[in-house]
Parts: sequence; structure tokens; C-alpha cells
Amino acid sequence: MKVAKAKRVKPKVPAPAAVIRLTPEHTLQRAAKRFLSGSPTRCPKCDSTYVGREPAFIHCRLCGKLARIVDAPLELQELWEIRSGLRIAS
Ligand SMILES: [Zn+2]
Repeated sequence: MKVAKAKRVKPKVPAPAAVIRLTPEHTLQRAAKRFLSGSPTRCPKCDSTYVGREPAFIHCRLCGKLARIVDAPLELQELWEIRSGLRIAS
């Protein structure tokens, strides 16, 4: 019976990684990209016009994306969800 030779595998060197410092400015900059400004009428993900306006979000009825509207209060969103029957009031 022939013994299979073990292949020599060169040890892989991991690719050099970039270190990103997580500063508050960096976080705010990233968060700002996810907010919508003004009164958008299109989905930012799929560009559909089949969207529903909620107090703090634009809800795409085609792809399901919920995009947050900048400076829209989440308290109004919560009230709207409770009144719409989407949440059970606690
Ligand atoms: Zn969409």
C-alpha cells in the first residue's frame, strides 16, 4: 500500500489590515449616510416609488427597506405604530 505524501502547504500570511479609529466624528459621519433628508418620495435602496411615509421612516413596500428620516422624532413613530395596531401597547 502506497502512503500518500502530505502536501507541503506554505503558511499563509494574512493580508495587511487597515486600522480604523472609531471616533465620534467617524460614527456620526457613517450614521449621516443612512439618514434621509427632505421629503423623499423614492426608496434609497431600490429606487421604487411604491413607498409609504411614516412619521420617522420611509417604508418601501417593494423591498421592505426602512429608511430613517433625519430629525424626525421617534416618539411620533412609536405613537403611530401603537395607533396603527403594529405594536401592543404596554
Ligand atoms: Zn425599496
